[in-house]
Amino acid sequence: MNGHAIKAVKRVLYRAVYGSRYDDVPWSQRLYVRPGERHVRQALWRLRLRRAPLMTLAEYRQRTKLGELEEFVVCHLCGDSRQQPLFTPADPKGRWSYHVVRCPSCGFLYRNPNIRPDRLGDLYADNYSAFLTGKYAADRQRRYRLTMDAFHPVFAEGAGRRLLDFGCGAGLFLELAEQRGFDAAGVDLSPDSVVEANRRLTRARAYHGAPEDVPEIAVGGFDVITLWSVLAHLPRPLEDFRRFRSLLAPGGVLMILTVNAASLQLKAFGSEWNGFTKNHLMFYSAETMPVLLRRTGFAGVAFAPFYGDTVEAGTTKLSEPMRRRLRRAVEASDGGNMLRALAFADDEAIDRWGGGLKVRRLPKREG
Ligand SMILES: [Zn+2]
Repeated sequence: MNGHAIKAVKRVLYRAVYGSRYDDVPWSQRLYVRPGERHVRQALWRLRLRRAPLMTLAEYRQRTKLGELEEFVVCHLCGDSRQQPLFTPADPKGRWSYHVVRCPSCGFLYRNPNIRPDRLGDLYADNYSAFLTGKYAADRQRRYRLTMDAFHPVFAEGAGRRLLDFGCGAGLFLELAEQRGFDAAGVDLSPDSVVEANRRLTRARAYHGAPEDVPEIAVGGFDVITLWSVLAHLPRPLEDFRRFRSLLAPGGVLMILTVNAASLQLKAFGSEWNGFTKNHLMFYSAETMPVLLRRTGFAGVAFAPFYGDTVEAGTTKLSEPMRRRLRRAVEASDGGNMLRALAFADDEAIDRWGGGLKVRRLPKREG
């Protein structure tokens, strides 16, 4: 059967099982609200993993083309070199594509070949960020506010506290941080974004480069560090997270928003998943992110389920019973299409900010 025939059969099947009840529900939400669907998706995913080929790095290198900016890598989290190729995301217009593999030991999903860290600047040098304005900027800031609410009271009162936004872009979050009273600074690899950010900000400052290049940031002592949609772009996450840990003050926290590699949407849409964007390199889940945090010296982590911006902001068109069902399904399955995490530098941070959250303590172990 060809692709079109399979799709037609699926449509008939869905119609027979679910009727027209879910026709108005967006695809990304149907996965959660149609009874039984998430169980079917999970079962198909397990089947896919069992069937996916498993090979040595040498075998994988032989069959995979290496781009000019790229290098082959092994699992960043556990060092296993074996490769389980799963996805090949590609731009519909053919401008880019890459390969995503799974580590058979720890389940980490990563791009392989990866971008060489010394060439990363090339990706962001020429006006990488089309500056978000109007509705897009408002949507982005809404997402920041919803996530800050999910970790209340970490972001409630910034007076007397230092905040670093790593990968600050054009300063949309720094603007909110300074409004809440934080003594805030940001860094970004795109020089144009930094200029734009400093135009937007009154007290907070944005800098071009890495934290160690900016004396005011290199001294550390931050109470909060934020990574808004940045983690998936980092080619050397262990190095970066060791640096973040050392930049935090006692009692400090690191907030991370990134795409969720355990998402039902990834399982349903495969290479067409919206988390596989052009410059994403690594894809974390609530299983794999704690490994990164433990290895880089954090004491604990808490996750906040992501229900989708329209559901959380109350602007969704879903009926109230459907909303409740979606929330329950997100909590019982993948935690949502985005991963929202609060990492605690030490026990003091857990005592101070872990109150209303389900904190997972990470055993101390260097390595
Ligand atoms: Zn691994």
